[in-house]
Amino acid sequence: MTLTRFLTWLQHSVLLLAVLALPVKAQWYRLPFQTMGTQAYVELWSEDNNLGKDLLIAVQNEFERINQKMSPYLASSELSLLNREAANGLVTISPEFYQLLQQAEQLAKLSDGAFDISFASVGFSYDYRQKIKPSAAELQQQQPLVNYRHIQLHPANQVSFSRPGVKIDLGGIAKGYAVEQAIGLLASAGIKHALVTAGGDTRLLGDKRGRPWLVAIKHPRKNDDIVAQLPLTDSAISTSGDYERFFIEDGVRYHHILDPKSGQSPSGLMSVTVLGSDTTRTDALSTTLFVLGLERGMALIEKIDGYDAVFIDINHQLYFSSGLNQ
Ligand code: ADP
Ligand code: MG
Repeated sequence: MTLTRFLTWLQHSVLLLAVLALPVKAQWYRLPFQTMGTQAYVELWSEDNNLGKDLLIAVQNEFERINQKMSPYLASSELSLLNREAANGLVTISPEFYQLLQQAEQLAKLSDGAFDISFASVGFSYDYRQKIKPSAAELQQQQPLVNYRHIQLHPANQVSFSRPGVKIDLGGIAKGYAVEQAIGLLASAGIKHALVTAGGDTRLLGDKRGRPWLVAIKHPRKNDDIVAQLPLTDSAISTSGDYERFFIEDGVRYHHILDPKSGQSPSGLMSVTVLGSDTTRTDALSTTLFVLGLERGMALIEKIDGYDAVFIDINHQLYFSSGLNQ
């Protein structure tokens, strides 16, 4: 072999080796994980092994980042900071947190207070695992503190509460927001097919490579059963149910969705599923419609363009909004 031939051979071999070493592996990447007190799951299609794996971790980290800001269980969260200090004066929070409070406020206005993050002023007196509920006296004292108008959003990301004792909680909107952020992160990284889900909130990016994703609506009374499976592409879906966190006492089901007007759990429905484009909205809307009940809930969802709902009432009857009825 002449030197030039040897060099050409070497070049080709090196090239071949380089090609073999490229981390090309087109496949589905999947990761179940625990976050925000619930089970979450991400599934994505990537053509690059390193990218696929890195993005699974990036999604998990994004959830944790949001949890650090919004958890009511962490004293260091921005939410806890507000609950400790906002009744004493202005508290400055991050623009991200402030914007989510603005979204919550919009929905409170739109639903005439059915969605109200200050439900926590009473909500924190319930402990569903320990079967604890507020006494009649506590309820009477805390009920006037539930009112979204007590949460005052000032310029420059400042917030105050107008009364001592007001508490907020983002359990009805934060998971949907985190799902939406996670999908945004995947889309920016060039991913075209993905599913992210946390608790009852799911967002789909693209389709499942040639076919729609299938998302199930759980049976509200039979744990591992489903009542419907919806073929979906590029959309968001959230379910709120009275079976997620609850206890039953004297025949009354005390569950984690509260009517801000009474401080008690609404009893007309067993679950509400909302479909649309944005998971922050589907999450908050499912909670909202649950509070409003079938008639008022249906009237509200019919007014919101691009959003639809499936209600299951206490008699196991299903009701679809007009966009799903066609
Ligand atoms: P999950 O996905 O946790 O089951 P949902 O979307 O069904 O949650 O919302 C229920 C959560 O919303 C409750 O755990 C509570 O944190 C919060 N919540 C309850 N009632 C209201 C309300 N009227 N307005 C806003 N948030 C609420
Ligand atoms: Mg919700």
